[in-house]
Amino acid sequence: MSLSYATITDTGRVRPANEDSLFALPPLFMVADGMGGAHGGEVASARAAEVFSLADLGGDEGSEKLAELVREANRQIYELAVSDANLHGMGTTVTAALVRGDAVHLAHVGDSRAYRWRLGILKQLTEDHSLVGEMLRRGSISEEEAEVHPQRSIITRALGIEPGVEVDTDAVDWQPGDVFLLCSDGLSSMLNDEELAAVLARGESLEQTARALVEAANARGGRDNITVILFSPAEVLGNGARRGAEAAASAAVENGAGGARQDSGTRRSSARRQSRGIRQWLLSTWGRVTIALLAGVALLAGFWLINRNVYYVGADGSNVAIYRGLPVELGPLNFSSVFKVSSVRLDEMDAIDRGRMSRHELQSLNSAEDTVANYLRNIEERDQNQQPATGATGTATGAARATTGSTATSSTTGSGS
Ligand code: MG
Repeated sequence: MSLSYATITDTGRVRPANEDSLFALPPLFMVADGMGGAHGGEVASARAAEVFSLADLGGDEGSEKLAELVREANRQIYELAVSDANLHGMGTTVTAALVRGDAVHLAHVGDSRAYRWRLGILKQLTEDHSLVGEMLRRGSISEEEAEVHPQRSIITRALGIEPGVEVDTDAVDWQPGDVFLLCSDGLSSMLNDEELAAVLARGESLEQTARALVEAANARGGRDNITVILFSPAEVLGNGARRGAEAAASAAVENGAGGARQDSGTRRSSARRQSRGIRQWLLSTWGRVTIALLAGVALLAGFWLINRNVYYVGADGSNVAIYRGLPVELGPLNFSSVFKVSSVRLDEMDAIDRGRMSRHELQSLNSAEDTVANYLRNIEERDQNQQPATGATGTATGAARATTGSTATSSTTGSGS
């Protein structure tokens, strides 16, 4: 499996600082939106990202591992908040995703969001832990009312507020072409789902799409910090490299920085995955090159077979010859060769036969031999017809022919008489 992704976090147009944090190192992604006076929000979200960056992933974890990381982050942020008066009351949201095999595992607290974009449909995968979100789920307000509700930024669950935290977990499947979006409310409060979908529908690269989402939120006012993570899992054929030291070294807790990277995971072995992998491979550059080479080989093999079985009659020096193959030359490539040289001389042939021969009609060997025999017969017949015609008067015809005297002298004699 390969995972391409892009991340951006942006202060927006109104806030003095960026209190969002993110962590992205395939297969683990996380967005955190901090809150609290002074630098509390920044500290809280950065601590959450740090806990994720230090996560020890063995390879078969799911949502429960994510929930454990969220609870660990909660513990650390809570302890910081109660031990430092300046940080008192700080907290953060966390929306995290872990891609494992066929599944994208999710853990979530607060009003940051996870979405899945599939075949033109944007689906929100998380429930907002906000006052407005809960009113919406109870049905006491409409979605339209929720979008403009004055208390829509009040969250009902966050990390760092209490010693323990309830974490929502979920797991969804992914298919090739899916794009997953993790974002802080600085994006989702500025753009509704249709507007987010409109940007995703452009089908640009993840990096361009992430940038376009942030630009659109800023164009709407950018009233909050905006953080966007886009990732897209894809199957690759072959045993992809495991996440290694190099990737780990390039990873960092990101706060205020963006980037895009790619990573590969291990290959899966189920039949569905394999056929999906083969389909993708067929569409890849190497797949196309291989198909083109196979087609070329098939074409040459066909050419060779044809070459073994077709003949034509043509000139070889001053004689008529039977050629095997096709009367084709492509640059240095010649697709025929002399099979048999006949005793028929070109200068003995009449213009009609020479013209016929120059068309190089393809024929079987038998038919080519017949053609050459015809040329020979035509020459002989013409020679026989010519002898009396040049030499004799009408009365001498019979005798002259009887001599079969083929020679010039006999005709000379005839004409002299
Ligand atoms: Mg926010």
